Amino acid sequence: MGLEQLIPSLAGDGFFTTQVNKLIAWGRKNSIWPYPFGTACCAIEFMATASSRYDLARFGAEVVRFSPRQSDLIVVAGRVTLKMMPVLTQIYSQVAEPKWVISMGACASTGGVFNTYTQIQGVDQFIPVDVYVPGCPPRPESLIDGVLKIQQIIDGQAKRHEFTRPSEMIPMEAN
Ligand code: SF4
Repeated sequence: MGLEQLIPSLAGDGFFTTQVNKLIAWGRKNSIWPYPFGTACCAIEFMATASSRYDLARFGAEVVRFSPRQSDLIVVAGRVTLKMMPVLTQIYSQVAEPKWVISMGACASTGGVFNTYTQIQGVDQFIPVDVYVPGCPPRPESLIDGVLKIQQIIDGQAKRHEFTRPSEMIPMEAN
């Protein structure tokens, strides 16, 4: 079914009115290009999310890029060590505006169970995070929910940092 069937006013010589910023936001939110900063097990769930079973393409975010200059959403998926943090901040600086960040999983958001001197205890101490996806690892449905929240931020239905912060997550028990 094409747009003409969905929006009858587009058929023939039809037209509809909108605002330029809404039109741009509509395009942006349906064509997110994620950059997976995958460092550990959460990255496997990212791969599952992008694969056919969960099909992230349904939300327009299937064009995964490994160049920050071609991306607008960084998904931090996994543990980030002290030595890796400068790499992540450099990658963040290379992504053109407007850009967004998902912190995926307990390790990226809080350090998880790895409370050691080598482990960053939350990447939001160094780069701004828009959406936190809880879990160890988060299921693909949770990451998809995070992408939908990014879409809400892009089209102005939600503000940055409005969604769950690590302090609101259910604490994990160290085994
Ligand atoms: S949150 Fe869990 S699954 Fe994700 S990187 Fe950490 S230990 Fe691995």
